[in-house]
Amino acid sequence: MPTPANWQAGYHSVTPRSNCPHLHDNISPNWAEVTVDVSKPCTECNDANENWRCLKCQGVFCSRYINGHAAEHHKNTSHPISVSFSDLSVWCYDCDDYITSPLLKPITTALYVSKFGEMPSNSNEIEIASEEDTTEGGEGPSNSVGGSGPSKAD
Ligand SMILES: [Zn+2]
Ligand SMILES: [Zn+2]
Ligand SMILES: [Zn+2]
Repeated sequence: MPTPANWQAGYHSVTPRSNCPHLHDNISPNWAEVTVDVSKPCTECNDANENWRCLKCQGVFCSRYINGHAAEHHKNTSHPISVSFSDLSVWCYDCDDYITSPLLKPITTALYVSKFGEMPSNSNEIEIASEEDTTEGGEGPSNSVGGSGPSKAD
């Protein structure tokens, strides 16, 4: 099961192209309001293992490693751009390449939240849970506190 950490590591293992000319015309304008469910099965074959979502019509189709319905959808409709539920990468069939763009950010963020149940860690909402009251007890850590700790002899 992927974690946010290894998703981020894997995401940058390919360098997506940032100048896809098809993106602007094929991105549905209301993505921010679309309910994203990354566990949705393929509309054609109901396989839920490895699906892609068409950015144009919101259809969900399986990858080439399952039954290839995403590629078939592109062939039938000429909708070129899909986002992967597996690693949130975005593929353009017309560019034949992974793509990236600021326009995709709300989409990948929505998918990320659906997948991991939290915001991506590059948002500035990181909480550090290290606020412990250290005045309790009076016995600090016994090793290397100002060199005054007596070394334990057996
Ligand atoms: Zn399918
Ligand atoms: Zn489509
Ligand atoms: Zn393209």
